[in-house]
Amino acid sequence: MAVPRHKHTRSKVGKTRMHKNIKRVVLSLCPKCKKPILSHTACRNCGFYKGKEVVNVLAKLTKKEAKSREKEIKAVEKETKAEAK
Ligand SMILES: [Zn+2]
Repeated sequence: MAVPRHKHTRSKVGKTRMHKNIKRVVLSLCPKCKKPILSHTACRNCGFYKGKEVVNVLAKLTKKEAKSREKEIKAVEKETKAEAK
């Protein structure tokens, strides 16, 4: 029977088992645009956090991209309003 030559320290064991403890990222949906977001962070798609605009996401986009993004957000807003009624 093979016998281990050296003792494995706790840290060495921990390093080899490190990848077994990787947890799934839990995502929630943005209440404004319904895209998956990390909790407790501003939405990267619409820039809203807790119902307020925190980041102006349209500022860095080109005119064409900004227009399409705005359209997309408005469409989702309409959908949510229709569902609420
Ligand atoms: Zn959003």
